[in-house]
Amino acid sequence: MINKFVTDSIPIKIPANAGPRTRMVGKTRPKCVVATLLLFVIPPQLDAGSSKNLPITTAHRVVALDHSTNAAPVGITYLGAGGVVIERAGHAIMGAPFFSNPVLLRVALPFPISPRPERIERGFRPVPNLRAILVGHAHYDHLMDLPYLYRKHGLTAEIFGSATTKNILAAVHDDIPPALVTDVGIRNGRPHTVGNMDIIAIPSDHAPHFFCLKLFGGKATGPKPKLPRTAWGWKEGQTYAFLLTIKDPAVPDSSIRIFYQDAASAVPAEFFQSPPYENLRVDIAILCVPGFNYISGYPEDIIHALQPRHVILIHWEDFFRRLPSKAKNLRSVPLTNVNRFIYRMLTKLPADAGWTLPAPSATIHFDLLPLP
Ligand SMILES: [Zn+2]
Repeated sequence: MINKFVTDSIPIKIPANAGPRTRMVGKTRPKCVVATLLLFVIPPQLDAGSSKNLPITTAHRVVALDHSTNAAPVGITYLGAGGVVIERAGHAIMGAPFFSNPVLLRVALPFPISPRPERIERGFRPVPNLRAILVGHAHYDHLMDLPYLYRKHGLTAEIFGSATTKNILAAVHDDIPPALVTDVGIRNGRPHTVGNMDIIAIPSDHAPHFFCLKLFGGKATGPKPKLPRTAWGWKEGQTYAFLLTIKDPAVPDSSIRIFYQDAASAVPAEFFQSPPYENLRVDIAILCVPGFNYISGYPEDIIHALQPRHVILIHWEDFFRRLPSKAKNLRSVPLTNVNRFIYRMLTKLPADAGWTLPAPSATIHFDLLPLP
């Protein structure tokens, strides 16, 4: 029986500023100065790592999860960057789809960036019965492609994100009606129910991009008349992680819990120390890789808090270039040692848990059934 410690959808009060304060590694001031200088002199493409020795799931994987009874399976498809599609019992939810992948120098300097239709069409597949899209924060690599997707593919899914996300998307109200966009901050920890899914937004934080440097910070404080032109205009806003409870309506007690974050962060401790979540065990944790080496205790502490049955690593590939057609040619995001992340994750991963490092477009199929 999974989730035996937690009853469904119990609201919890979360102060608006309850997000964790990310503790950065090492002494920051001298590193900040050096990091600022290095950011503009290191050719970034030289620092993207080969994926040759990484255990990547390239297409499809089946995982058995113990459950009290036979219940509808769960499919999770990795889209690349922070993007995922989660499907169960005829309903689907998507996290932060992003395919345009402008080069790092264009992002950092800053030159204008915009959606790249050819790359989006290559990576995006229409998802039947897509009910909701989660946007953990408003950086360009989580939000910039959404207006194109709504306009071109006629999406009607509700968008859940920060006030900054809502204010930026106000610029494209013809493509994305404001009524479709929910500022999750106003719910203060109470779940949003969409189809067979309960969505709880947890105030979280965002790792630095480069040693102590956290780029694109700030908030959009009012509805924007135009979309940002450069990466620096896509301001982070409040970052959120999400706790999802997804049911199979045909089977009682069939809930599974998924934790999804699209930015590496310290543990949202206040949430996980409050009833009824203090003994939470999630079934699947979708964790963000880049920036982990700049946060003290990540990913060990979040693994310890969640006790996941399965971990899916995301945002790990180099999203500053067009994705290669063959997974073996993928490269890891610059300055990120994915093997090191895996090593640290394994020090805290429960003995009965598994994990997957998916290539973009790979699907993990979770079968829920009583295991012998
Ligand atoms: Zn970000």
